[in-house]
Amino acid sequence: MPKLKFPESQKVAKQVKNYLPGGVHYNFRYAGKDTIIPFNKGKGSRVWDLDGNEHLDLFCKFGALIVGHGNEEYNAKLMQYMNKVLSVDQCDLEGLVCERIIHYVPSAEMVRFGLSGTESVQNAIRLARAYSGKPKFVRFQGHYHGNADNIIGGRPQSAEHPIPVEYEEDFLGTDGRAPNILQAQSFLLPWNDAIALEKLLQERGHEIGAVIMEPICINGGGILPQPGYLEKVRELCDRYHIILIFDEVITGFRVSLGGAQSLLGVTPDITVLAKAMAGGALPMSAIVGKKEIMQLYVDQKVIHAGTFNGYPLGLAAVLATIELLENDVSCYERMGNYLLQIGQSLVEAAKNVGMLMVVQGVPGILIFHSQEKPVNSPGSYDDTTKLRDILITRICKDYGIQFSKISRFYSNLMMNETDVSFFQERIQEAIDEVQRISEIF
Ligand code: PLP
Repeated sequence: MPKLKFPESQKVAKQVKNYLPGGVHYNFRYAGKDTIIPFNKGKGSRVWDLDGNEHLDLFCKFGALIVGHGNEEYNAKLMQYMNKVLSVDQCDLEGLVCERIIHYVPSAEMVRFGLSGTESVQNAIRLARAYSGKPKFVRFQGHYHGNADNIIGGRPQSAEHPIPVEYEEDFLGTDGRAPNILQAQSFLLPWNDAIALEKLLQERGHEIGAVIMEPICINGGGILPQPGYLEKVRELCDRYHIILIFDEVITGFRVSLGGAQSLLGVTPDITVLAKAMAGGALPMSAIVGKKEIMQLYVDQKVIHAGTFNGYPLGLAAVLATIELLENDVSCYERMGNYLLQIGQSLVEAAKNVGMLMVVQGVPGILIFHSQEKPVNSPGSYDDTTKLRDILITRICKDYGIQFSKISRFYSNLMMNETDVSFFQERIQEAIDEVQRISEIF
């Protein structure tokens, strides 16, 4: 398969640099130069760039796009609702959508909608602080909860003092952060380490109102909780009167309609949903949780606001997504299987050139690491692996394969066996090229 050429796409991407800082919509410190390819057509798992080249979309807009491009049923439902009413403060969908979410997500007794994961995480923390009456929260290394000042980046001062501090080489570091906000608000612990959490809570539990985590640590490399870990965290939170928040921004709806919590059997007090919950075309997020906690909104004790909260088209998108997922009874198994086959093909292509490769995660969300062993803690892959993983992501674009950032890849409802063959036809040449380049470093 010849390498793709995208002169028109590159021309447009270059021109846009005059208007968008860096030519992109987001940035992280020290992110390498990436090939920016604009697309203007999509169908199923495929997207077409401005030169008409076809690409396999495993990026799925950071995991949000679960319905697939050009999903006729989804699009029709959105159009139908758009023709019904546009922006009103409340419509006829709230009850329907909330009932479905409450039915599926174990921790959901009431629901508040927002737009982004970042925003709903912040609101969840505010709610947890108010309910517990305690100001600080615990988060974990390798877990990502959005780009707000108080929760992004940093590393623990030391194992004895798990207070997050900024450091120069931090990929998630930023100038302009409110001074000392990390230190003032939070503790940063290793995940999957119940002893570390217990020790901290024994010493500082009186000032900790919330523990927040990704129940499956996708951002740290695709790590599952150790058996018994989540149960222990739940027990510790109960013992120290701390609100347990599951950030299911990635896993919610993507691993199951009930999120990771329904698969793992541990129920938090508050859950944050976003990304795939509205199918992928529109921004929607939600804070869901226990009635007695959400009562703080009813009693006007805690503020929660947002112009577009619960906008009708977003609600229609959530409802359409739920209906698509629930009517397609074997969809999670199917999405998982196709993605797994893609992952296996990657491992084989790497093996053919003597490159180490593991693929890990959960069905529907996989992450590759060009090393021998699976990542079992966010720090357990070195810079060479990371560099090679970035290179794989970068080179694969030239062969029409779009991975998500940090070597993730996602499935969607429309993925089928032709997507697997598309991948198989291209991956070997891409990996051969990566191998040739990586022999130099
Ligand atoms: N939480 C998790 C687990 C995420 O992965 C992300 C984004 O990738 C966020 C929160 C932030 O969500 P958003 O980008 O919608 O603000």
